[in-house]
Amino acid sequence: MATYTPMIQQYLAVKAQVPDAFLFFRLGDFYEMFFEDAINASRELEITLTGREGGGEEKIPMCGVPHHAADNYMSRLIEKGYKVAICEQVEDPAEAKGVVRREIVRIVTPGTVMDSKLLGESVNNYIVSLVNQADGYAFTACDISTGELYTTKLANSWELVVDELNVYNPSEIVTSQVLLTTIRESGAAWGRNMVLTEWSRADETLLDEHFAEDAALSNLSSISRQGVATLLAYLKETQKRALTHVKHIRIYEPDQFMTMDPFTRRNLELVETVRERAKKGSLLWLLDKTVTAMGARMLRRWIEKPLMNVARIEERLEAVNLLYNQLIVREDVKQALKEVYDLERLVARISYGNANARDMIALKHSLQQVPMLQQLCATSGSETLRKLVENMDVCDDVMSWIANAIEDEPPVSIRDGGMIREGYQPYLDQLREASKNGKQWIAELERQEREATGIKSLKIGYNKVFGYFIEVTKANMSALQEGRYERKQTLANAERYVTPELKEKEALILEAQDKMIDLEYELFTELRDRISKHISRLQKLAEVIATADVYQSLATVSAAHHFRKPEIGEGFDLAIEDGRHPVVEAVIQDGSFIANGTSLLQEQGRILLITGPNMAGKSTYMRQVAVICLMAQIGCFVPAKSARIPVTDRIFTRIGAADDLIGGQSTFMVEMMDIQVMTEKATSQSLVIIDELGRGTSTGEGMAIAQAVIEFLHDRIGCKTLVSTHFHELAHLEESLVHLRNHCMAVKESGRQVTFLRKLIPGAASTSYGIYCAEIAGLPDAIIQRSYALLNGFEERAAASAVPQAAAIAAFATIAPPVATPIRQLSLFEEDSPADVAVKKKPDGKSQLVLDQLKGIDLINMTPLQALNLVYEWKQKLQ
Ligand code: ADP
Repeated sequence: MATYTPMIQQYLAVKAQVPDAFLFFRLGDFYEMFFEDAINASRELEITLTGREGGGEEKIPMCGVPHHAADNYMSRLIEKGYKVAICEQVEDPAEAKGVVRREIVRIVTPGTVMDSKLLGESVNNYIVSLVNQADGYAFTACDISTGELYTTKLANSWELVVDELNVYNPSEIVTSQVLLTTIRESGAAWGRNMVLTEWSRADETLLDEHFAEDAALSNLSSISRQGVATLLAYLKETQKRALTHVKHIRIYEPDQFMTMDPFTRRNLELVETVRERAKKGSLLWLLDKTVTAMGARMLRRWIEKPLMNVARIEERLEAVNLLYNQLIVREDVKQALKEVYDLERLVARISYGNANARDMIALKHSLQQVPMLQQLCATSGSETLRKLVENMDVCDDVMSWIANAIEDEPPVSIRDGGMIREGYQPYLDQLREASKNGKQWIAELERQEREATGIKSLKIGYNKVFGYFIEVTKANMSALQEGRYERKQTLANAERYVTPELKEKEALILEAQDKMIDLEYELFTELRDRISKHISRLQKLAEVIATADVYQSLATVSAAHHFRKPEIGEGFDLAIEDGRHPVVEAVIQDGSFIANGTSLLQEQGRILLITGPNMAGKSTYMRQVAVICLMAQIGCFVPAKSARIPVTDRIFTRIGAADDLIGGQSTFMVEMMDIQVMTEKATSQSLVIIDELGRGTSTGEGMAIAQAVIEFLHDRIGCKTLVSTHFHELAHLEESLVHLRNHCMAVKESGRQVTFLRKLIPGAASTSYGIYCAEIAGLPDAIIQRSYALLNGFEERAAASAVPQAAAIAAFATIAPPVATPIRQLSLFEEDSPADVAVKKKPDGKSQLVLDQLKGIDLINMTPLQALNLVYEWKQKLQ
């Protein structure tokens, strides 16, 4: 190190403070990176890697970005999950003795981004801290781009942490080394783009100082104090500023909200779809008709955290109901909201000292809408809306400060003047007058010079390098009086001159201009600082506006899609008349969605066992029930003719194949682990939904487990349950379990043509139409024909010992008559099934071989193509 130049030594000393971040080291007009940083940054940013002499034996790798374009490069690194430390010159190079002093002024990390280009408008960007002690976890989440901070205490169970992580979906977690390992090993970070930062230093003194004015401070438990203090210390360390907009600690209890595990959130496609992970196609996408960005973020939070408290849900429903019915009020509210900008992020930028004059104008416009909005809510006739604006602080003082100070259309930069209104400050007005007079004087001088010299094309111009000058074309040079004009610059066709009097005036004009610009900057920052003292008032106002926006959004969507107000209750019974899946209905668009009712009653059937072929609509139906319950609990109307919805404490789903491979576990293992959590956590107030229970293992085992799970839910938990299964044999459970009802999805058969009617009807399905599905999936005709032939053979042999079965399909005249063959395709290898017996009776050598092979195959580890090849081989053998 001793051989390095002082500047490189300084670099190394600063870099040692931030080993895990790219260090943007300010050198004049560039931010430079050296050593490893330079090599990595040149690769990530595709910029040229050069070298620089630094006193060492070899050149030091270096690359740099111009300071005016640095934001863009920084954003790209942050997006890739890196951290960037910005190191600035903190003294005037002209006054520095030796190397200019440099310091890190901010460390930008994915969880502490303020740049609006990097932040999704309608999503919060959370950073979470986790602290673990003997009595549980402190979970704290903060969005520094809006100033929100939430904290809760969780019992000592890792699953609860994972549940919360899924609610907040943070882009960064700061925690101890031990917990970082747990996060990595438990797969909690699976599929998500988040940065894990080791940090466990809590600063309780800072905590007490920072939140001295917040009443919530004294309500924090000791572990939560640790949690918030840890996060605050990290934010202070990286942001290096006061964070005056993080004003209020919101303490919450997780059981204030409906619980959903990560799979349920994903399966129900609350905020993104399972496959594309896109907002489009999710519940949020359907419900989001918010006008403001803050409203959009709040709606997302509501969907992520459905309420448990009936009174609070009713309150929301009351506001939605009013706006649903009063089209004009709703439209007026929407209109007023259109002019409202993202107050939360504006305010955060004011606190950061990043806001420019245009932000101020946006704030002014927003505040101008507030009285109108207040009036609309107060007189709407809704008690909830009236209360929302009752003691609302409209911040009109802030609005008039801006209105008096800032021009209507100010420039982007705050360093070039042109922001402050005339009449705002007398001295600024004087300077402007002086500068204006000076310019008039110059115009007058131009006229006089033209007259005196007789050169009509003479003009007085200005540029940054030479200041004011008199310009004449080469042809006219001779007309100038000797000695009076001093030559300044020669151009191709013209000469530029100055005169002593022009120089003198120029000094005055420029001085006035410099002063004006400095003064404007000063006045602007003074206004910004003044407003930053009123941040919590503005934040409260932002929350009111966002809430009104969410109400109008829910009402707008409810009206557009003919949703109805649900009846919410504390009891058990759930009754939905003609329910629909709101998103599937919206996507198929042509009004062809088939409505289905649901009734889950404490005494007369709280478990529905749903059988039916693939594609019949089973999982859509089950999801629909969950989504309706959830919508009701966020305070939205529901897609049904009528609905009585009891408060659900937890929705548990095991649906679909999307999560089949997580951390290398097999489908079956994942399913069993989910079921284990469910048996532990579900209560009688929960809603349990299991699609294709027991798949992924052998039929016998799968069926046994399915039955045992259903019995457990029936006897021990007593929750509302929807189970779909391929095992038609389970239909017999209706006889032994008093709370279980068989249902199936109706199908219409004509010849080999099958039509799914998507109607849920009582009774059990009699076939799974597997071959039909294979046919529409495009399997070769030879296989399809052969399958039907084999199936017929099995059926004939099984018919002799057929067991009569509930034939629900008979309820529909158009539907195929019940077939008295309860066990068909799926029962091939069921030891005591009649079909199996039939096959086994006369096994010729070839079929025995096929059967043996069939029994031995490992379906889980097989690709569909391998399976198809095997079927093809068997077919060859059997022919
Ligand atoms: P299953 O779970 O029985 O295999 P799905 O629920 O996945 O079937 O439904 C298959 C398709 O049928 C869905 O993609 C959807 O477009 C359509 N569908 C499902 N339910 C309905 C309904 N009630 N009305 C109209 N179309 C439906």
